[in-house]
Amino acid sequence: MADRTDRYCDVALPRPVRSTFVYRLPAALAVAARPGMRVLVPFRRKRVIGCIDRLRSETELERVRPVLDLVDDTPLLSGRLLELCRWVAEYYVAPLGLVLRAALPPGALAESSFRVERVPDGEGADTGRAGTGDPPLSPEERALLDRLERAVDGLQAGTLRRDTKVRSVWPALRSLARRGLARIREEPPASLSAEKTRQVITLRRRLPTLLEREEVFGRARRQREAYEALEGMDGSAPVVHMSERLGFSRSVLRGLEEKRLAEITDEVEARDPFAELGPPPRQPHLEPTEDQRRVLDALGPRLGIPEPGTVLLRGVTGSGKTLVYMRLLARALEREGRGAIVLVPEISLTPQTVQRFRAAFGDDIAVLHSGLSAGERGDEWRALREGRKRIAIGARSAVFAPIPEVGVIVVDEEHEGSYKQSDVPRYHARAVAVYRARLEGALCVLGSATPSLESWHNARRGLFALQELPHRVTAQRLPEVRLVDLREEREARRERSIDRTDPWAEGDGAGVGEVAGPLVLSRRLSDELARCLDRGEQAILLLNRRGYSTFVQCMECGKVWSCPRCNVSLTYHRDRERMVCHHCGWEDRVPEACDECGAEGLTFAGLGTEQVERRVGELFPAARLARMDVDTTGTRWAHHRILERVRRHEVDILLGTQMIAKGLDFPDVTLVGVINADVGLNLPDFRASERTFQLLAQVAGRAGRGERPGLVLVQTSRPGHFALQAALRHDYLAFAERELEDRAGPGYPPHRRLANLVVSGTRERAVVDHVEELADWMRGLVAEEGLDGIDLLGPAPCPIDRVRGRWRWHFLLKSDSAGPLGAVLRYLSERRGQPSGSLRLEIDRDPESLL
Ligand code: ADP
Ligand code: ZN
Repeated sequence: MADRTDRYCDVALPRPVRSTFVYRLPAALAVAARPGMRVLVPFRRKRVIGCIDRLRSETELERVRPVLDLVDDTPLLSGRLLELCRWVAEYYVAPLGLVLRAALPPGALAESSFRVERVPDGEGADTGRAGTGDPPLSPEERALLDRLERAVDGLQAGTLRRDTKVRSVWPALRSLARRGLARIREEPPASLSAEKTRQVITLRRRLPTLLEREEVFGRARRQREAYEALEGMDGSAPVVHMSERLGFSRSVLRGLEEKRLAEITDEVEARDPFAELGPPPRQPHLEPTEDQRRVLDALGPRLGIPEPGTVLLRGVTGSGKTLVYMRLLARALEREGRGAIVLVPEISLTPQTVQRFRAAFGDDIAVLHSGLSAGERGDEWRALREGRKRIAIGARSAVFAPIPEVGVIVVDEEHEGSYKQSDVPRYHARAVAVYRARLEGALCVLGSATPSLESWHNARRGLFALQELPHRVTAQRLPEVRLVDLREEREARRERSIDRTDPWAEGDGAGVGEVAGPLVLSRRLSDELARCLDRGEQAILLLNRRGYSTFVQCMECGKVWSCPRCNVSLTYHRDRERMVCHHCGWEDRVPEACDECGAEGLTFAGLGTEQVERRVGELFPAARLARMDVDTTGTRWAHHRILERVRRHEVDILLGTQMIAKGLDFPDVTLVGVINADVGLNLPDFRASERTFQLLAQVAGRAGRGERPGLVLVQTSRPGHFALQAALRHDYLAFAERELEDRAGPGYPPHRRLANLVVSGTRERAVVDHVEELADWMRGLVAEEGLDGIDLLGPAPCPIDRVRGRWRWHFLLKSDSAGPLGAVLRYLSERRGQPSGSLRLEIDRDPESLL
């Protein structure tokens, strides 16, 4: 209960500022206000929706602005969820408002925005009429006005800027407003409950004869065309379609309304997130195997106890972890009457897993993921909060699902790097899951075939319980893995190329604009692929690099084309005939000659998936190929459509980047080829070996899941590397032991805790000065406080030292334990805040990568 003396509140705003803001609660609102409720408050010149963090009875501040309104009748966030968010804000040193924004559905915390409308002719102030002394419209104003003309419901300034390419839209817009040609209005922040509607125009009266049309429309040619367009579309169409696509202005459509021929209405958009996925296929009823039963017997009883703790479930690929999750969920729902959260690395990559849960739990499942519209997310969110659905399944942000009573939290593929958010708040969903489970008295299950070293370390120290599923469910053993030494292969190829009749002698040289032929398939892999196709089985080919070739180089002077904004080379994309930066998306046409030395011989080197597709297609012209990478999966369910084709066996070879390594379960896949395992191994990052081992184990796990045995061929130039050797034998324990040992010396996690502090800015000198000064300040602090468990490393340029035109330098803090590190980071954030000007400081606690 709010005390009557509570007349102020701390409000968290969705802004990159450190603390919350104090606002006054007018008496009328003070009675109902509670923490976790959203409020509308003035902030600078806008109105912003924030969330009450705490109520307070007094403040030392003198001038406090008032809360304008309460947005919710009841707190949107439960006390527990608010507590969880406060913990995330504190641990990851992030503003609470940004944590809340990540936790709530999109648009729940929002700012007001400005919308610009065309004032219909005749309604404007008379200053807008020609000849009243205004100078003629500038080209920019003209362009903006033309764009507004076609917009039915006005446009936001950002859209105008994008569509018209006018750089500074505001002066031009204000000038248009002064002339009475446009109107600028502040739109209140969109609220969570707003249904997503769209305007639809529908014909109400038909004019079947030509004569009638002549009579009604006379010289109103556009109205007549709009009428006829609508007739052609069965009498109804979205207003945006009429205006944006077909170019009918707002006044033309209104003309139809005035003639009582048509009506414009608001329609709620139908939105079933699974409409495109179709109903889940029926799943056979499965009885747990002996192994699964043993795990369930151990974990089931934990559900009823006050502190069930965290369990690491290490189960090889195909060992049936999903059934264990589902049984635990069913028990939490039925016996305990509680809900559950299932986290998966990325929903669109794991449609099979989602469909299995949907088949088992039907309407109890809410799927939360980034492909949903804001409205769809809001719908699912409310259904969970109100208990209409009790299971949330989704990517990392689903860890904040508003389920009132959580019994189980599952983190599937817990080792996946995508659980770490790269933007503020830089939280790790696995860590948040463990913490939330503790708050809720829920069981946390972390599942993986190749656990992260952090979780493995915690299991060995006894912080997590350990359960294992060492065998595959089917009688099949894990597939045989073989390494193919690319160095030997290259040598052999050079010798063969002397013999021009050998089909393998494709030649390595390239002429003008021609593409060199890097080694794609070794003879061994090619032979196995041929055999696999002959047997009518399927194959998966993995290469963790997209595009055609990963760099373009001048043969004469050696220049490599790189992004003007990032310090990385440009990737050649053949299907678009462009060179593209994979960091910022910048692209350029492919030059005909070197712009430095004028030579015309360019080489295209470094293999990407696009080239693999082409080469494999040339070698196996009858095979049906499908490529799956970021470039082929632009639309919402594109992954699913490709995978469905694989499932129906309309595809013989599926090739792609790491996204094909995830939980696919296709019984006809008997061969997996890794085109080049060294891609990830050579990255300058302390997790390079771990990532490579995990990727190989994952992709190998796709082979031989049905009746027939699987074979995995891994092409590499470093066959002796321990990560590959361990992958060869499916030996997680050997890998983990060696990797833990390797990380002990330099003090990398899990031995010590890490924070990466990155300073970036547009001027390199300023970045260096600031990062050095900051590191000195930090060293002084550590020495002064006698914090001998903390070391500072650096500063140094980041491995990729320029991204999007910003220079990047960093230093690392390593700490023996979490507590002091957190204290130091918070002190840094409070004392130093954000640097001034274009400089920025990123604090990344428990970083997934240091690139
Ligand atoms: P994991 O997630 O551990 O890789 P899955 O949960 O995908 O493994 O299970 C692998 C395959 O085994 C799936 O096709 C699944 O339907 C099947 N399966 C799992 N448990 C059983 C069981 N108890 N009886 C029969 N088949 C099972
Ligand atoms: Zn770039």
